[in-house]
Amino acid sequence: MSSDRATMPVAGPAAREPGAMAAPGEIPLCTPVMHPSAWTYVKECLDTGWVSSVGTFVTRFEQAMAAAVGEGVSGVATTSGTAALHVALQLAGVRRDDEVLVSTLTFIAPANAIRYLGAHPVFVDAEPEYWQMDARAVVRFLREQCDVDGGAVRNRVTGRRVAAIVPVHILGHPVDLDPILEVAREVGLPVVEDATEALGAKYRGQPIGSFGASSCLSFNGNKLLTTGGGGMLLSADPALVGRARHLTTQAKSDPIEFVHDEVGYNYRLSNVLAAIGVSQAEQLTAHLAAKRSIARRYEAGLGDLPGITTMREAPWADSAFWLYTILIDASRFGSSSRDVLRALQAEGIQTRPLWQPMHRSPAHAGEGSFDCPVADALVRDALSLPCSIDLTPAQQDRVIAVLRRLGGASA
Ligand SMILES: *Cc1c(COP(=O)(O)O)cnc(C)c1O
Repeated sequence: MSSDRATMPVAGPAAREPGAMAAPGEIPLCTPVMHPSAWTYVKECLDTGWVSSVGTFVTRFEQAMAAAVGEGVSGVATTSGTAALHVALQLAGVRRDDEVLVSTLTFIAPANAIRYLGAHPVFVDAEPEYWQMDARAVVRFLREQCDVDGGAVRNRVTGRRVAAIVPVHILGHPVDLDPILEVAREVGLPVVEDATEALGAKYRGQPIGSFGASSCLSFNGNKLLTTGGGGMLLSADPALVGRARHLTTQAKSDPIEFVHDEVGYNYRLSNVLAAIGVSQAEQLTAHLAAKRSIARRYEAGLGDLPGITTMREAPWADSAFWLYTILIDASRFGSSSRDVLRALQAEGIQTRPLWQPMHRSPAHAGEGSFDCPVADALVRDALSLPCSIDLTPAQQDRVIAVLRRLGGASA
């Protein structure tokens, strides 16, 4: 998942793996782009000694992200997006043996966070149009296969309590949230948005990350904004934010004495990384504009190619186009997505398949799932294309030209 240059292997065969660091002349999949202000802010941390988990940059970064996500929202910076999800789920009331509805087509982090709490993911298929969690499947399950007894939602088949819904907005595009929010209200379930791939996206004009009881962001190396590694929990509920701050700082409850009133976590982001975050946050509009412009150029260059489905944007969505992805229909295009991956690799162009869907993950074998034929088909056909913020039009045209040649179309 990571494309953090600093942690990637150097030249050699490993460097040619999808997601690995690009060799000179190669076109990487999605690499971080730093702005000069990061040097200034990090230097300030080093010069003043404010390097740890308390400092002005932590606060500034939290405020910048909260402002980007919505009015009245506050943020708690964390060491990773996964850490933010772990705490968000705990604060949503997820407990051992509960079930949590989550997208099957996702990076593994939200499924793992559910398991950290001893709870069980129930994997929901994707819809074929925008590749997001199928909202209708969530509604059907909760209305037709669950009972609401004494305020608890219970899965009639397993007898387990259903504790939360985690829509994962993948690849920068929002999940169709209205039906999910409506049924959640109806049965009394909290929604925790995994907004890690969709910072800057909007659903019906409102920023993603502002809809659930809480939401989570990630600042991993290849995300829209990066601190190298980091995350944030966001919520408009001040009590929840206070609890998150407490839990992420080892639940220390006395300003002087080392008294901890519950089992907490060491999950707070350092001021040094937050300083990079503040620099990145200043680039949010520019980074979003770059992603949208890359999406437009791919659409123009590939949209007419037989056997290729380009990334759509729902009428109710403003996509952040975080990771530009196409579907390749092997029978119509003439080669499969994996053949194309290898052919592009031979041309020095890094691409990547989507994640193994969670209902097939060995890490989550035996967990509950609906039938997920759509996610299976999407994963078979999908290929993510180079889309770094600093991808040049010339590089992008090269990717397009190679794809057109492979598809047998005249350039
Ligand atoms: C990146 C990501 C996360 C969080 O990842 P971290 O590396 O822990 O910051 C969570 N969910 C999804 C869908 C992601 O893509």
